[in-house]
Amino acid sequence: MSIKGRNAVVTGSTSGIGLGIARALATEGANVMLNGFGDPGAIEVERAKLARQSSGEVLYNSADMSKPAEIEAMMEEAKAKLGSVDILVNNAGIQFVSPVEDFPSDRWEEIIRINLVAVFHATKAALPGMKAQKWGRIINTGSAHSLVASPFKSAYVAAKHGVAGFTKTVALEVASFGVTVNCISPGYVWTELVERQIPDTMKARNLTKQQVIDEVLLKAQPTKQFVTVEQVASLALYLCSDAASQITGANLSIDGGWTAQ
Ligand code: NAD
Repeated sequence: MSIKGRNAVVTGSTSGIGLGIARALATEGANVMLNGFGDPGAIEVERAKLARQSSGEVLYNSADMSKPAEIEAMMEEAKAKLGSVDILVNNAGIQFVSPVEDFPSDRWEEIIRINLVAVFHATKAALPGMKAQKWGRIINTGSAHSLVASPFKSAYVAAKHGVAGFTKTVALEVASFGVTVNCISPGYVWTELVERQIPDTMKARNLTKQQVIDEVLLKAQPTKQFVTVEQVASLALYLCSDAASQITGANLSIDGGWTAQ
């Protein structure tokens, strides 16, 4: 079996990269549980659309990834309704841009909870089943910020470096069980998360919107282009394939050359 018929949970898949990965998996015939925030009606429209495009089932769970009990309940629901969780994509994430001394403490901790601690809780819930069936794929959405830093993103950079370290550790723990654990680390992908940080970056650096795009975002990427959601999704699909069974503990950059500098 390759991807068709596998059961996947993709956290933070109501928009952006997660939705792109969920769409790619569903199109390949995987059963997918979506998760994330948003307008319930719009989420249901997207869920039904994906279900029509897929030979598999498409479900939705509204777990708040900052709440461990809700993460555990989502993983239990996926196992109960789909039979197993074969693929886990830990993707939910938020951003906040501020100098450390002004960074609201509750926002800092929230970023760590959603971007890092949730990855632990979902992985912990997924591993026993994956190990027992001797097949599993865990893909963590890292970031170029899992490898390098930028000013004013202390919580995000700390969380993403944490995700990269967690990925390597779990990969070693389960390497002999047919379970691979990898990080995909995109540079700037044009999604709501990037769009939303532009006003704060304008304020923190005293720049116009266009200056933020040219001098902060794309400045980091030698190709001078945004990465696309579809490009990230196709790398995730590859990691789920049997061809990628020897890739584990890796942090795969897809960043237009950003971290080569
Ligand atoms: P996005 O804002 O479009 O999507 C984020 C998703 O996470 C949404 O579905 C949102 O509802 C969900 N989410 C947020 N808080 C949640 C919570 N508490 N519980 C459940 N779901 C929650 O952003 P995106 O750019 O697609 O980001 C997805 C991932 O990719 C994040 O981990 C982000 O750090 C990472 N990333 C993004 C970029 C980029 O340039 N866009 C680059 C590198 C890494």
